[in-house]
Amino acid sequence: EVRVRFAPSPTGALHIGGVRTALYNYLLAKKLGGKMLLRIEDTDQNRFVPGAEEYIIESLKWVGIGIDEGIEQGGPHAPYRQSERKDIYREHALRLLNEGKAYYAFDTPEELEAMRERLKAAKVDNPQYNSITRLQMKNSLTLPEAEVNERINAGEPYVIRLKVPRKEEVRLNDLIRGWVMVHSSTIDDKVLMKSDGMPTYHLANVVDDHLMEITHVIRGEEWLPSAPLHVLLYRFLGWEDTMPQFAHLPLLLKPDGNGKLSKREADTLGFPIFPLNWNGIDHKTGEQVFSQGYREAGYLPEALINFLAFLGWNPGTQQELFTMNELVEAFTIEKVGKAGVKFDINKAKWYNQQYIRIKTDEELATNYLLPILKEKNIDCSPEKAAKISSIMKERITFPSELWSEVTYLFDRPESYDETVVQAKWTSEAVRVIADFKQALQGLSSILKADTAKDTLHTVLEKQGVKIGKVMQALRLAITGVGAGPDLMQIMEILGKEETTTRLGNALD
Ligand code: GLU
Repeated sequence: EVRVRFAPSPTGALHIGGVRTALYNYLLAKKLGGKMLLRIEDTDQNRFVPGAEEYIIESLKWVGIGIDEGIEQGGPHAPYRQSERKDIYREHALRLLNEGKAYYAFDTPEELEAMRERLKAAKVDNPQYNSITRLQMKNSLTLPEAEVNERINAGEPYVIRLKVPRKEEVRLNDLIRGWVMVHSSTIDDKVLMKSDGMPTYHLANVVDDHLMEITHVIRGEEWLPSAPLHVLLYRFLGWEDTMPQFAHLPLLLKPDGNGKLSKREADTLGFPIFPLNWNGIDHKTGEQVFSQGYREAGYLPEALINFLAFLGWNPGTQQELFTMNELVEAFTIEKVGKAGVKFDINKAKWYNQQYIRIKTDEELATNYLLPILKEKNIDCSPEKAAKISSIMKERITFPSELWSEVTYLFDRPESYDETVVQAKWTSEAVRVIADFKQALQGLSSILKADTAKDTLHTVLEKQGVKIGKVMQALRLAITGVGAGPDLMQIMEILGKEETTTRLGNALD
């Protein structure tokens, strides 16, 4: 059985790259009939942010990524929160110690700093705690056993480090990047267990992936450098033959392709980077962060998912619109690229437009337009709201524009766009509009778009004026602005009384 996991750290808002990671995991699991786990990696207490966990769960729900096992659902490998699994990690760290694959280290931060300074002075460009330098440090490999026990019993702080072999080749076959080969001399003796008794990410991640029977580790490229260390850990723990397969997803790049996309930059670029509104604490600055998210900006979850799916994957065909189910059908890891992907918010907007268009007029009216109007205390029948949705849906990017782009459907214009007045409000136009108003008044009460059009054409013919000469002036008279959706439809929505009143006001 395929088993994958999304393993975020609850350190703040969920970066859009994290949502993509979750999505690819989900797609693979569903495609292969497997299970999707949500594991909360909260072992770094300094970075823990209250509320972030709930926020992650809400984000995943909003975009429609379902979880089979996790902190909410439970499951055979509970608990799914790492801070509740401390004993499990300790047990494995002690096993490595007993088997001579890990050791205690007592070095103080000052001693570690002094070691790095010495190495830098000796022109070592990558100062490491490794098979050579550990010989000069205070650890259970250099201190007499009695002293080690004494220090531990006296409560002296210590960490447990992995004893990385000096000369060994570590290799892994990444599903996206192919063979990755690293010499163990480039890996340092990573801390597995911190002095506060908490495991590091590396230990907890490997132990959990094994115990939770994870078959595929799909995560961001920033974890590729850690992968060889993880392979070593699997080997030392005796789990190499059930080691999961790795797939490291391509980086998300800034829109111009120059460098990695970061949250901060994304915000200054002027588009929202979080899937939801995040009102939490930034763990670096300690400040409260209020950030507009995709949901608040008016992105539809299905548009966001479709957009994210294409950030690194494509089906190899021309098809661009995919529902979640279609993505599950089409998704394969083999079609995920290695190269970094430019993050282009215009593409997200394009998807939003497409998904708005395929909604029914009634859906748009009920879910978006009527709630907006209600909040503004504006009366509107469901039929009228559906009609507005039908003339607007091809023209908008966000559902809020069903209202904001056509406020004149509810409020008479109080002023008229001056540049259009200058260019188009000709005496010819005034004559046509006056006649048209009169002709409308002579009609039976319900004004249909077709009738409005026929009436206008009769007036134009009588006066010998081409429609192009007066159309914008007529629009100006009715809406106050020079552009918008079909004017005949607008007249139908406004009705005969309102339309003729507005024409009269403009002529005065
Ligand atoms: N907790 C890590 C993160 O926040 C998970 C990395 C992984 O998937 O192994 O990105």
